[in-house]
Amino acid sequence: MNPATRLSSNRIAIVFDFDETLTPEDSFRALLQYLQLDADAFESERIQPLLDQNWEKYLARAYCLVKESQQRGDNITKQTLTEVGKTIALYEGTEHLFGWLEKAIKEISTEIELEFYLISGGFVDIPRSTPLAKDFKHMWGCEFQYDDETGAIEFMKRQMTHVEKTRYLYYLSKGVDSQNETDLVYNYADIPTEELYIPLDQVVYIGDGASDVPCFAVMKQYDGVSLGIYKQDASAEDWQYLDSVGRSQRLSNLVPAGYEKDSELVRSLILSVESIAKKIAIRQINSEQ
Ligand SMILES: [Mg+2]
Repeated sequence: MNPATRLSSNRIAIVFDFDETLTPEDSFRALLQYLQLDADAFESERIQPLLDQNWEKYLARAYCLVKESQQRGDNITKQTLTEVGKTIALYEGTEHLFGWLEKAIKEISTEIELEFYLISGGFVDIPRSTPLAKDFKHMWGCEFQYDDETGAIEFMKRQMTHVEKTRYLYYLSKGVDSQNETDLVYNYADIPTEELYIPLDQVVYIGDGASDVPCFAVMKQYDGVSLGIYKQDASAEDWQYLDSVGRSQRLSNLVPAGYEKDSELVRSLILSVESIAKKIAIRQINSEQ
């Protein structure tokens, strides 16, 4: 074996955002609606005043929900988030997507493994309760602490800001599961590519908006693949914004949402995993010699 072509990771990761990427909805608004709250009023009358006082968006959301839970007769619990996850609409085709992608890479090499990850700025107990959850190796997002006795939301124990999202790209690349301080040092250490669990140039990241820009930037830095998604009915303003992100972050493609079999998004995803799989397959041939 030529040392220069030493076999490294045979894994490919596809990393999804959740809100408006796998679901056309915003899961926070879906939660408010499930609680029979007026989402616009909740955002403008309760969250916005905190943002005006320099609160972080995710902390403000959690704080307002905890207050709401304390004020209303019935607590907001993990079960509440589970119910939202069970009922939230997913984009059409998502139920077949993982199978199509698996098939595409198996046709190139049966030795290549495909893993799915989710990094969401929303409350992750919602996507964890969707039918897609079983296919993900890890799902990361904002998380609540629930009261031991009542099950009510009590505090936010993990928040996922836009920049925080990138930390989990490094985690999955290093193959780190736990999240203590020692691991954090390892997370940012310079590890030789062949020792990485999944090098970031074998990762495809899919997201739709501002919260994904730091991840797009990391993918650009490490030659990963980024796909930007826009809603089919995106306003000219939304489109212009995403187009500017696309150009600055060198997105591989900017595609309309929707996972129907012949959609531009599914074709882009299949081509992305195929191109990475072929790169791995070439290394596998070299390593056999
Ligand atoms: Mg999103």
